[in-house]
Amino acid sequence: MQHSTSSALVVSGWHRMSYSFNDNTLISQHLESLIRKLHAFVGTAVTQDRYIVFGAGSTQVLSAAAYALSLANSSSSHSPTRVVASVPYYVLYKQQVEYFNSEKFKYEGDAHTWRNRSESDASTNVIEFVTSPNNPDGLLNKAVLHGPNAKTIYDRAYYWPHFTPIPAPADEDLMVFTLSKLTGHAGSRFGWAVVKDETVFNKMVLHMQVNSIGVSKDTQLRAFKLLKAILEEGTQIFDFAYQTMKSKWERLATTLSLSNRFSLQKINPQYCFFYNKVRESSPAYAWVKCEKEEDKGCYAVLKAATIIGRKGNVFGSEDNYVRLSLVRSQDDLDILIQRLQKLVLEEDGAISM
Ligand code: PMP
Repeated sequence: MQHSTSSALVVSGWHRMSYSFNDNTLISQHLESLIRKLHAFVGTAVTQDRYIVFGAGSTQVLSAAAYALSLANSSSSHSPTRVVASVPYYVLYKQQVEYFNSEKFKYEGDAHTWRNRSESDASTNVIEFVTSPNNPDGLLNKAVLHGPNAKTIYDRAYYWPHFTPIPAPADEDLMVFTLSKLTGHAGSRFGWAVVKDETVFNKMVLHMQVNSIGVSKDTQLRAFKLLKAILEEGTQIFDFAYQTMKSKWERLATTLSLSNRFSLQKINPQYCFFYNKVRESSPAYAWVKCEKEEDKGCYAVLKAATIIGRKGNVFGSEDNYVRLSLVRSQDDLDILIQRLQKLVLEEDGAISM
């Protein structure tokens, strides 16, 4: 809102009507180079000698990545590629694999279950989704499975300094980012992957062509304008977003620190190369645990206090966990804190101030 003019966009009715750009690709080279600049400026990813592919949100990019990696695998094995993620995981990976119902891959649940088995079962290919920072718990996850048949897709949606310390530029083979969690423009549907391997990149490009003939040019123009406005203002938007998320997290943590009934995830502070200091995380979600046996249905406990979260089992976890979103409006947060404070005050033996 503070930069509404510099980030505004006006498009003539006749403009940008065709499928492709002048270079016959579906990817704006101007936007691509801005994305590289942004990663270099913030230090979130290595993009030199890497390919970049766009999608309709990271949602489309993630499925393109899974297809590309399972196709790359298919000649060496007849069994479907196993798709795994460590618990608690973002449920979309599972939903996509199950919905597409392809013979190329099969969702096989928690990555940890396969860690020790991979040696004896070396002929089956695995794709591990690694969400880092993780949704729901904000941890900077790393791949659990390694070896010649293990491929990883790093979902870096939340790898921006407003949510996490940035300990180093990410440099994995396949990393996925999204405008949704960078600027909040989830409705524009823009995501991208940074890809090391040319063959994998080409397969992802093919997927985008077959799936949707690329990403809307209107969306690409909007993303371009937003990223340009951001880069013109130096660290401003990150400082703003970091302060906003930090304050939300601190208010929540203070509220729950008085409780014996509810606890929050612990994330260790780390050195952040963007802010040049050791700092705490300021995650997008609270991964709340109901500590008491009688509160095993944590979702219902919070719902009775008119707090709506997401059940732990949605993330492959137990139902004594609930995810609460902190990427909502300031008003929503105020109400959430009020209701949590009330719940904590009502506790028997709550720690008093
Ligand atoms: N990955 C993660 C970890 C997410 O939390 C989300 C959004 N909730 C997405 C991907 C998808 O976001 P989008 O399609 O808007 O980029």
